[in-house]
Amino acid sequence: MDSIRENIENIKNNLNKNTILVAVTKYRSIDEIQKVLQCGIKDLGENRVQEFKEKFDLLPKDIRWHLIGHLQKNKVKYVIGKTFLIHSVDSVSLAEEISRLSIKSGIITDILVQVNVAKEDSKYGFDQDDLETNLRKIDKLDNIRILGLMVMAPNTKNTKMLEDIFTTTKNLYDKIKSSEDEYNNLEMKYLSMGMTNDYDLAVKCGSNMVRVGSGIFK
Ligand SMILES: *Cc1c(COP(=O)(O)O)cnc(C)c1O
Repeated sequence: MDSIRENIENIKNNLNKNTILVAVTKYRSIDEIQKVLQCGIKDLGENRVQEFKEKFDLLPKDIRWHLIGHLQKNKVKYVIGKTFLIHSVDSVSLAEEISRLSIKSGIITDILVQVNVAKEDSKYGFDQDDLETNLRKIDKLDNIRILGLMVMAPNTKNTKMLEDIFTTTKNLYDKIKSSEDEYNNLEMKYLSMGMTNDYDLAVKCGSNMVRVGSGIFK
């Protein structure tokens, strides 16, 4: 208990006041998650649909759930209406399915669009070169709201490389933000970047939403 509380305090001390800490609770038990909630955390992140569904049913309804892992189209039906934010929209066809099911449920789903800046890693996400083309396609869909970008940096200790990736993503974010009025359903509000090993650097580079898992439960 105490170590979770201490870890969260330490992480929060490294964040700006308006940076949102998403506690990544994948693989963690309900008991462990309860301890996180007792520290006043409201934002929880899960990366697998099955695990998310189980925890959603067992935990309080005021949690803001963030889906952060790659989402398959055939699983959208299990998450629709349950998330605060889907971080990992990495194709137009996934966005279309989210739109279709949101219309059917009469809700609006808030999403982030994942961008793949570290091309040497076979991570999910849009290439930065055709990010804006794809944003415009997603922007045309109904019942979906694009609220920002998400990036996953490679697992490396190479600070220079990480800094390049975070800065590139922040520049993309700012560029899109400055052309917001060319879109219908887009408002650049969240820049989701930074995990346990790199969140401090990500925040320095302009992140306002960090996804921290192991650093909370160590
Ligand atoms: C697991 C995960 C995290 C958290 O990683 P840690 O290194 O444990 O902080 C963040 N983002 C995504 C997409 C993840 O899958």
